[in-house]
Amino acid sequence: MYNVQTVRKDFPILSREINGKPLVYLDNGASAQKPQAVIDAVTQAYTMEYANVHRGLHTLSTIATEKYEAVRGKLAKFLNAASEDHIVMNSGTTESINLIAYGWAMPRFEPGDEIVLSVMEHHANIVPWHFLRERQGVVLKWVDIDANGDLDPQKVLDAIGPKTRLVAVTHLSNVLGTVVDVKAITEGAHAKGVPVLVDGSQAAVHMPVDVQDIGCDFYAVTGHKLYGPSGSGGIYIRPERQAEMRPFIGGGDMIREVHKDAVTWADPPMKFEAGTPGIVQQIGLGVALEYMMALGMDNIAAHEHHLRDYARARLDGLNWLNVQGQSATKAAVFSFTLNGAAHAHDISTILDKRGIAVRAGQHCAGPLMEHLGVDATCRASFGLYNTVEEVDALVSGLELCHELLS
Ligand code: PLP
Repeated sequence: MYNVQTVRKDFPILSREINGKPLVYLDNGASAQKPQAVIDAVTQAYTMEYANVHRGLHTLSTIATEKYEAVRGKLAKFLNAASEDHIVMNSGTTESINLIAYGWAMPRFEPGDEIVLSVMEHHANIVPWHFLRERQGVVLKWVDIDANGDLDPQKVLDAIGPKTRLVAVTHLSNVLGTVVDVKAITEGAHAKGVPVLVDGSQAAVHMPVDVQDIGCDFYAVTGHKLYGPSGSGGIYIRPERQAEMRPFIGGGDMIREVHKDAVTWADPPMKFEAGTPGIVQQIGLGVALEYMMALGMDNIAAHEHHLRDYARARLDGLNWLNVQGQSATKAAVFSFTLNGAAHAHDISTILDKRGIAVRAGQHCAGPLMEHLGVDATCRASFGLYNTVEEVDALVSGLELCHELLS
């Protein structure tokens, strides 16, 4: 039985006050808070077990290497990858998608080749593809969402033409909470011979992910949203795609031999991991993944669905609030504007005075803001430790905003 009050005790920051009020942390979409187990693991690593990895034969380096490398297996288990060799570890999704853009797409794509994207992608899954547009004449093809914020997989598949080389889509919108049927997209795209990259930064936080079941070619996750340290993360890459990739960042660790006039690469996944990595961050991520798996991803999803349903009902009752994205299967992520001229920043500032942390702005989703016809929204994004009482606190905070701003 999932006991949210017990879970909350694992997160020390949740007991602090902000502006004299108990913290109500609803900015999990930007970054999640860390359980004590992660904080302890980071402290332990720096206090007693720190050295560089992969390079030393001394005891501390061996301990650090074992702990760091064990995280590859934990990421593989978390995503149900068939082998830990299918996981490249790095600082998170932005680095991961750049790796695929530079290492896989750039050497292979030609002018006129197309990449299909949804209009609700995060900039991390847009800007690396703009590099290819600017530098190589690759064409970006955008697929719209419907009025509820859903992405119809068939529309994505219809956008695939003879020159399409990649479909790159989010699994869960960081703004609308929409869950995308990436399995249907992958099956359809593969039937047309087109690989699929999935941005799993948000989805992996809220639901079980099985990359073998989805069948995608690339699946990126980011540690700081998974209750782990910032600067941690990784990407699942199918072995066939790994074999097609060139290294992206060059340096130590990713080589087999370096001579004055020649260099050979380490085998994947090390071929794609250059330099000293985020050793301690990644060790912390391993503990965060274990924490989530011990709670059970199905239990976390069920808890958050309950929060979503409650929040949806309460927010729908505010007839002066425009909630963007009404997908039936969305996650507990709510973006909204207030009728009238109230700016998202003002709403966020008033909520902050009541201890409530939400995000205001474009959420790194410029094309989606254009599609919705708004400059900015406020976003309340829930996590595994949030409660229905915090939904109530948000609603009463919004009522105050309405009173003060309209
Ligand atoms: N993709 C999505 C959907 C996100 O929400 C985010 C973070 O906000 C990112 C990518 C960027 O991830 P990272 O912080 O690891 O660079």
